[in-house]
Amino acid sequence: MAFDSLLKKADPIIAGALDRALDGKDISVNEAIELFDCNGLEMNLLVTVADELRRRSVGDIVTFVVNRNINFTNVCIKQCGFCAFSRDFREEEGYFLPPEEIVRRAKEAAKMGATEVCIQAGLPPNMDGHLYIDLLSAVKKEIPGMHVHAFSPEEVLYGATRSEVSTLEYLKMLKEAGIGSLPGTAAEILDQQLRNIISPGRIKVDDWISIIKGAHSLGIPTTSTIMYGHVETSKHKAEHIALLREIQKETHGFTEFVPLSFVHTEAPMYSHNTVKNIRSGADGNEVLKMHAVARVMLNNHIPNLQVSWVKEGPRMSQILLSAGVNDFGGTLINESISTAAGAQHGQLMRPREIKQLIRSAGRIPAERSTSYKLLKIFRDEKDDTESELDTADASQFGSYHQLIKLDKFRYDPK
Ligand code: SF4
Repeated sequence: MAFDSLLKKADPIIAGALDRALDGKDISVNEAIELFDCNGLEMNLLVTVADELRRRSVGDIVTFVVNRNINFTNVCIKQCGFCAFSRDFREEEGYFLPPEEIVRRAKEAAKMGATEVCIQAGLPPNMDGHLYIDLLSAVKKEIPGMHVHAFSPEEVLYGATRSEVSTLEYLKMLKEAGIGSLPGTAAEILDQQLRNIISPGRIKVDDWISIIKGAHSLGIPTTSTIMYGHVETSKHKAEHIALLREIQKETHGFTEFVPLSFVHTEAPMYSHNTVKNIRSGADGNEVLKMHAVARVMLNNHIPNLQVSWVKEGPRMSQILLSAGVNDFGGTLINESISTAAGAQHGQLMRPREIKQLIRSAGRIPAERSTSYKLLKIFRDEKDDTESELDTADASQFGSYHQLIKLDKFRYDPK
């Protein structure tokens, strides 16, 4: 009743949109734009509705996955304006991990209880098109049970181009070699005009959609993402999410949606001021609204909404659990891409830290597989078992800043 009276005091368009969402209906792009632009009472109502929709569709469990990122090279032929990770092949800080080191890292992760390795990297010049298949096969041969979540649509396109096969053929080769799922990264904002400004040369919108739909058609699930807080408008954000919603209605292949806020500190388009009106990332209210609007827009189609602790840090991530989020992402162990861009939240979050943040938000932590199968629910603190990752000395995993200085893995352009 109290909630209804607050809705009556709110802007009628926003109140109407939230009311319809609570009735289980999809909201329109125009309504989503209004939600992205709201503040004060309307923003609080939006967050409350997102939280309620989350509760109705996925309950109080907040999941996380024990995984390790392996960004095997930072050498890349592209120069995306937001990317501080990539190095030109002539630069001193270029590194390239050989297959045996990738397998070693995957095995070490398995020993720590990881169920997933996430493999993504730059696009090194003259790459053997079969490299991605070989890396995947090498990991699967040594650790058949490990879920390999790897190769963004940009990498699939590169692997296919270098192998002179279609992207669908390439996806079939990945599937045969045992790929578990693809990261739905390289999406940023799926608007070609905007991409031409922030990352000319980046995978085209049509190619991104075609590769994602191709993966889904082969039974390879993918995540879905957005990168925001740079030059996009509310309309871009609303249309991007609506596009993902349409794809999902057709394929049902997205496992989750992950908002990624732009980390500006070291990003070339910010530090060199190459893009007009570039912003220094999303502010607190924008981050809150992004997650809440995503829950409202996608609740009927993509039930899982993930917060990126790497981008938002532990405190903001915890707050976002009350704005529609039901997944805390992964332990990561070696986060490099946001760290290179200047993110300050570390490269590893241990299961015990994740569980603590979830519990003190009044929710129930659970470890999941990549495909959201619940592996262990930690209803009570007494159910907690300390994993090897909880007690491991983090220095044994090496850091991104050490890696770019190591001669051992220096990229050799020959
Ligand atoms: S985002 Fe990926 S493709 Fe673009 S420059 Fe960075 S590593 Fe290369």
